[in-house]
Amino acid sequence: MMEIRKCKNKKCQRTLPEGYKNRYCENCRNDHVEKLKNAGKVLLTCVGIVGSTAIAIATKGKINIKK
Ligand SMILES: [Zn+2]
Repeated sequence: MMEIRKCKNKKCQRTLPEGYKNRYCENCRNDHVEKLKNAGKVLLTCVGIVGSTAIAIATKGKINIKK
């Protein structure tokens, strides 16, 4: 069965090639990956700060991770 699928991005709506396994076109996927990378960096930074603060509180400053 031939099925014409379009990119799930409402702003994009590009027709996806036959047999294409992703819901988003290559272009949107690249954009998404970039955003994910950036979000990942921000998240890791936040987790890092919160994490080290939490450890510092939990250990009541007995363990110094970094000075
Ligand atoms: Zn797209």
